[in-house]
Amino acid sequence: MRLAKRTEEMKASEIRELLKLAGNREIISFGGGLPSPDSFPIEEIDKICTNVLKEYGTSALQYGVTEGLTELRVTLAERMKKFGINCERENVIVTNGAQEALDLVSKIFIDPGDFVAVELPSYLGGISSFRNYQSRFLTVDLDSDGMKTHELESKLKAMKEREKVKLIYTIPNFHNPAGVTMTLERRKHLLEIAEKYDIPILEDDPYVELRYSGEDVPSIKSMDRNGLVIYVSTFSKIFAPGIRLGWIIAEKELARKITIAKQGTDLCTNIFCQYLANEYIKSGTMDRQIPKIRKMYKRKRDKMLSSLKKYFPEGCKWSRPDGGMFIWVTLPEGIDTEELFKEAINEKVCYIHGGAFCVDDSGHRSMRLNFSNADEDKIEEGVKRLGNLIKKKMC
Ligand code: PMP
Repeated sequence: MRLAKRTEEMKASEIRELLKLAGNREIISFGGGLPSPDSFPIEEIDKICTNVLKEYGTSALQYGVTEGLTELRVTLAERMKKFGINCERENVIVTNGAQEALDLVSKIFIDPGDFVAVELPSYLGGISSFRNYQSRFLTVDLDSDGMKTHELESKLKAMKEREKVKLIYTIPNFHNPAGVTMTLERRKHLLEIAEKYDIPILEDDPYVELRYSGEDVPSIKSMDRNGLVIYVSTFSKIFAPGIRLGWIIAEKELARKITIAKQGTDLCTNIFCQYLANEYIKSGTMDRQIPKIRKMYKRKRDKMLSSLKKYFPEGCKWSRPDGGMFIWVTLPEGIDTEELFKEAINEKVCYIHGGAFCVDDSGHRSMRLNFSNADEDKIEEGVKRLGNLIKKKMC
């Protein structure tokens, strides 16, 4: 078979592979980014489903428009105001999860050999989307204040093929996998850079509603006066990932281009689930559920942080996220987390090694730990097992 060149370059997602392990009940999984099963209000969803079928039955089961269900686009445009984003229905495209949004944005921007500026580390699914369109990467380090925007600026300044940088990709809130949040100063600076070099920012913001401590920081999109920010978010963390719904907020002309690209991908997003999500918001169920999720995840985050302190040896460092689902741990010199993984599996605990999130050859001493999925006692036990393994390696 003569496959396309880009297919040869595609790699299986390590997370998808690891999620198979997470399904093994004996293993304490800090691997995938799965919400807690306790975060799904099944009874309420059951009622809303029945109601959607009763009220909108035939249209809920029919094809719909590519941009998304009008009622849901209006609801989302309204909801975005809460985050300082002033937009209209025409700016909103509903997608099959934020992942499709990343793919569609890649599809309309990236020619083979183009660059995407990405953080080190960055979200694996984002990297896969860009790679599928044969991108190259301009890498920018992160610290506890988010992307080092001065580094980005000096790299862009020095770059010969600058016009090939098509997107700047960032996860500003409770970064996946690094757990850090970009400061307001850096967000403003990033926008200045985007304007100066005319490079759109792809702001991936799935965790914005999952803050457990600290103060909200305005989204980059909320400060965007020139339509340079493409904002992406999702229902996966505030409703359920199984409904596969996300959305894009983009300037109208761009939204039209994304819509045309989407026509060739899937015609339209799951209509039944769009009705469901619209009712989930309109009925107030989502706003009653989010504080419960926050409370539950705050406890889990605190448990993981206190367990790390208790069981991980001196010389290990980790982020202290104000929200989201992940903690990024860096081990002392000499321990490779990819190698350690096999031993962790023997101890029936798993994580994702840091190298998986880095487009260069870094991240080997790091690991991403998810704290939203496991129960609190499992969190403590899993961190203890990992801590013991690391201590053994250090002897
Ligand atoms: N972006 C980031 C940063 C994520 O963490 C995720 C989910 N893990 C996604 C996008 C994709 O989310 P969805 O389930 O909406 O496709």
